[in-house]
Amino acid sequence: MNQVKKEIRLEFDAISENEALARVVIAAFLTQLDPTLEELQDVKTAISEAVTNAIIHAYQEKGGRIVMSAALTGDELEVRIEDYGIGIENVQKAMEPLFTTSPETERAGMGFAFMEAFMDKLEVESTVGVGTKICMRKKFYPVRNWKNSQV
Ligand code: ATP
Ligand code: MG
Repeated sequence: MNQVKKEIRLEFDAISENEALARVVIAAFLTQLDPTLEELQDVKTAISEAVTNAIIHAYQEKGGRIVMSAALTGDELEVRIEDYGIGIENVQKAMEPLFTTSPETERAGMGFAFMEAFMDKLEVESTVGVGTKICMRKKFYPVRNWKNSQV
């Protein structure tokens, strides 16, 4: 298995139109690992949740910049989503299912729970007034690819 690290980096405005852009870029980047539709859907959901959080919480829909970088090492995808917004006071609490600071809107407080469920690993680093870094990892299984190539 080729262990060379392949990387991409994308910086974009924190506006809702770019949530779809981020999802599609990661999906396209991931096609080289030949993911199933379900795996692809899982990764896209996790990306959407992280980018949406940056748009609505970090920048409170007033705009800003988001940096998304992704790397493929062997069969593992790593995606980082970084904002320079308001930051999170208590990361542990924010990550609890159903916790939201926007209960008055239709927010369910499930974004982090989805990221955790759909990816293998989730790490959140945040500093109030500085910003938030999300790092997500997921492994894909090459046995399926090997089988496909034998057909
Ligand atoms: P949902 O994702 O279900 O619509 P939510 O966004 O409130 O609701 P989570 O995505 O789990 O739920 O996030 C929990 C809380 O963490 C948010 O309500 C917000 O206070 C905080 N938060 C999450 N991401 C960020 C961020 N990038 N910057 C600042 N605060 C954040
Ligand atoms: Mg959310």
